[in-house]
Amino acid sequence: MAFLDSVLEPPSYGWRDECGNLSEPSSNQILKEFFKRLNIFKNKKNWLSFMSWFMVLCLAPFLFLFIFKYFSFKLLIAAFVYSMIVMGTHGTIWHHRYCTHGAYEFSNKFWRFFTQNLTLKIIPEEIYAISHHVHHALSDQPGDPYNASGGFLYCFLADVNHQPINRSMTEKNYGKCVNLMRHTGVNTNSYAQYQKWGTLASPVRTIISVILNWSFWFAAFYLLGGFGLVCAMFGAAGFWAVGVRTYNYEGHGKGEDKRRDGVDYNREDMSINQIWPGYVAGEWHNNHHLYPKSARSGFKPYQLDLAWCYIKLLSMIGAVSHYRDSKKEFYQAYCAEPAAAKATAKAYAKETKKALVADL
Ligand SMILES: [Zn+2]
Ligand SMILES: [Zn+2]
Repeated sequence: MAFLDSVLEPPSYGWRDECGNLSEPSSNQILKEFFKRLNIFKNKKNWLSFMSWFMVLCLAPFLFLFIFKYFSFKLLIAAFVYSMIVMGTHGTIWHHRYCTHGAYEFSNKFWRFFTQNLTLKIIPEEIYAISHHVHHALSDQPGDPYNASGGFLYCFLADVNHQPINRSMTEKNYGKCVNLMRHTGVNTNSYAQYQKWGTLASPVRTIISVILNWSFWFAAFYLLGGFGLVCAMFGAAGFWAVGVRTYNYEGHGKGEDKRRDGVDYNREDMSINQIWPGYVAGEWHNNHHLYPKSARSGFKPYQLDLAWCYIKLLSMIGAVSHYRDSKKEFYQAYCAEPAAAKATAKAYAKETKKALVADL
């Protein structure tokens, strides 16, 4: 716990106030911190956060070109599917279930690389994964990098203000961080390089991998549908990158208790199952907090989980060698009685029908 308690770089307003409660900074404080931590001229250790928002900035012109020059309803549908479903589901498959929770394993490096680069690369793995471990350990408590009680802006700008790794870790703790990322294939800095750059990822390798990834997808979209499709897809990816930053606030009830009986079985934190993130990205977040290491989060019949469909498909073709599926445990632990009741009700209905037929 001590490690996860100190693995993130604390914001200048701190995680806790003097009484140990969540420190609730004003919007001004949050924005000031945001721009301070984006300033690469003041501190080069800000490079990864800067890069992350710079990529969004680079994608913005594509969105404008799509809207004002290449707009068509066909492209709008493609952009909608790409930003909402493809990017969202990929985030769940790669950053969430694989990089953070190791819910499944690839058979070989090719399939890992394939899955990693299935969409435009925008969110740096270490920003997402390390801080997400902390989110699970300290959900809705001070220290949770996107504690919904801190408000919308507290969560929306968390990737810069609260999610980057601590810059003054000991060599031992840095080693633990490296271990958390080892299975992802992300090349990590030596301790000396980390002291220079403040990150797990090396700037040169990261920049090259983004350029290669973006070039590939630029060429692929161009060949498929010309510059119009490139603009629609790149613009949609930028739109998603901003939109996804609102999810952590909403997925934990916007700082309120929105958990519902019969839907949200986990009562340890404020996470909720929501239809939209569930359907487009497989993020049944309350279920996920119950079984974080499960490669499936949609347990009930109506809880479509496209991320799980992808993992299962890869498993069927031999690209995934191992996965965890906690659906059975979920039903045993939380739905045994209602399920039994349902079965009884079904049997009763069958008997009644039989009796009615016999009467005729
Ligand atoms: Zn959560
Ligand atoms: Zn998680």
